[in-house]
Amino acid sequence: MNNFEFHNPVRIVFGKGEIAKLKGLIPRDVKVMLTYGGGSIMKNGVYDQVKEALQGVDVIEFGGIEPNPHYETLMKAIDLVQKEKVGFLLSVGGGSVLDGTKFIAAGALWPGEDPWEILTGKTEFPLLKALPLGAVLTLPATGSEMNGNSVVTRVETQEKLAFGSPLVMPKFSILDPTVVFSLPDRQVANGVVDAFVHVMEQYLTYPVDAPIQDRFAESILITLIEEGPKVLANRNDYNAAANFMWAATMALNGLIGVGVPQDWSTHTIGHEITAFHGVDHARTLAVVLPGMMHIKRSNKKDKILQYGARVWNITEGTEDERIDQIIAATVKFFESVGIQTHLSDYDIDESFITKVKNRFLHRGMMGIGEQGDISPDQVAEILEHQL
Ligand code: NAP
Ligand code: FE
Repeated sequence: MNNFEFHNPVRIVFGKGEIAKLKGLIPRDVKVMLTYGGGSIMKNGVYDQVKEALQGVDVIEFGGIEPNPHYETLMKAIDLVQKEKVGFLLSVGGGSVLDGTKFIAAGALWPGEDPWEILTGKTEFPLLKALPLGAVLTLPATGSEMNGNSVVTRVETQEKLAFGSPLVMPKFSILDPTVVFSLPDRQVANGVVDAFVHVMEQYLTYPVDAPIQDRFAESILITLIEEGPKVLANRNDYNAAANFMWAATMALNGLIGVGVPQDWSTHTIGHEITAFHGVDHARTLAVVLPGMMHIKRSNKKDKILQYGARVWNITEGTEDERIDQIIAATVKFFESVGIQTHLSDYDIDESFITKVKNRFLHRGMMGIGEQGDISPDQVAEILEHQL
């Protein structure tokens, strides 16, 4: 196992009716800005519960944060935070609202010229300050509720970039599984697949003899495979919703990634599909991962075989035959929840692959993945495999 430090200070408040606990969690000595998305919280009762809990708190609101939150919109929020001297941010929504709120938190106190620099890293300033934030999560998927990551899209340049800092980890996140009851099938499926691929990014790497991390990872994968279809079949199944929600948080709160190599190339490539074509984040991952497993089948052989045996009970045949069966089982799972795995399913053709390859070359991203050996040519091969 590799050396590591682990510190996750996010307070999780989990369960039915727990949004009321905001009352005791929200600071009362500063102005609070409540951030939200396109209005789902008005329809499912979450907004009313939040407002009830915030009685007596000095609150302003900023709505309209879109899926794959836009830098352009978040800059307007940063202006408002500065003008109104906001001291605490409360995100009420899914991963996009929360990621956007993290960017607002860091951007509002950024000493450089343009907070976009936080995402490009092209700056002389380190990120040293951010406003504190808390979250009421309405969509299990990203794990953003218990990590310090944020992904932001700039529409003008068709770029989607990520940053990470412990400074933007929420002070608390309230996870009430009943929020799942109002999710459309599309978002449940997205959540299951995003969480699944988060685990794979930290698991499907070269082995370093870390059985705790491996078995935690496998248990999350199996839970998603079992609970995801239950949630899709019956949106009011509280226990299935709760297990799905906790699985998504556990998939990306740092725990399973300690002391092991981490890949993240599927996300890096997937972000380009969203940046250029606006495809839902999870769907981009379902396209890239099978191609990644195919192209990296020899480097990742040991872990692919372990994953196949322990998660899918695939134990018969030569190593190559098993790997083919394992990739097919993974694809079948994604498709069973309604997520397609080819670029053509999203009307994307070969010209996209050239654009991605050129962009990686231009950015100097000559080797991604846990071994730094996925070149721009291999990125193209992965995508060609999924045409
Ligand atoms: P999302 O983009 O936050 O939300 C998708 C849609 O679901 C929105 O239209 C939203 O509507 C709706 N919605 C949310 N909660 C709902 C509910 N309870 N009932 C009905 N509709 C609801 O989806 P997400 O998958 O959570 O976030 C995706 C973003 O997170 C991507 O940008 C992705 O790159 C990023 N991401 C971040 C991390 C991380 O670690 N930070 C990891 C992976 C991905 P409203 O807008 O109306 O609320
Ligand atoms: Fe993700």
